[in-house]
Amino acid sequence: MRIYVLSRNKLILSFLFLLTVVGIFTITQSSLTTPSLVRTPGTYYMANTQEKVIALTFDDGPDPIDTPEVLDILKEKKVQATFFVLGKAAQANPYLLKRLIIEGHEIGNHSFNHDYQQRRLIEEIKLTDQEVFASTGTHTYFYRPPGGLISKIQLETVNKNGHIVALWSVDSKDWRNPGVKQIVDNVIKNVFPGAIILLHDGGYQRTQTVKALGPMIDALRDRGYRLTTLSGLKVLDSEIK
Ligand SMILES: [Zn+2]
Repeated sequence: MRIYVLSRNKLILSFLFLLTVVGIFTITQSSLTTPSLVRTPGTYYMANTQEKVIALTFDDGPDPIDTPEVLDILKEKKVQATFFVLGKAAQANPYLLKRLIIEGHEIGNHSFNHDYQQRRLIEEIKLTDQEVFASTGTHTYFYRPPGGLISKIQLETVNKNGHIVALWSVDSKDWRNPGVKQIVDNVIKNVFPGAIILLHDGGYQRTQTVKALGPMIDALRDRGYRLTTLSGLKVLDSEIK
């Protein structure tokens, strides 16, 4: 009788354990469709390197007001960065694409319309790539999905079509407009060797980002960091995927 009771308790415990395992598994799987701060498997969000090198990335441009200001600062500080452009913004501001390339920056693909659901995923990537190629003669290599959201199937589709899905490892949270100092702090407090930093040069007014950029670069350099493009970072990667 006593043995029977123990077994039943064990059975209940086993059932609870199984429920926990299933729960953890479900959470892990659902992380594939949440932003990259959970470090989505199969995407490029950091370099595996001990070297103090990081990449600044700017999304949602080119913007006729904010992008030139960002570019002026990068030029003055002698920094090259990666710009994830929207096809529609690229179409409206082709001269800014030219300037990006002339000044040594890298252009990534951020879809055409910034549709979070990416219903026309490959079509938008191709249209954006065409805009970039028409203005600069270069193709895009990295794709960053709007909002950093991507499902496993979308990820595989993008890979098959020859783009690498690039997310980020440090979010400046400049999209929240939290104040200039907070943007700098969000980067400086979380930076590490091989990190990819998320910033914005379009979408909405980016006055705070523009003001934070110079102090951010100085603070990173004070801490011994070198700044490069996403491709520049990937070259250093000890675990090429
Ligand atoms: Zn975006």
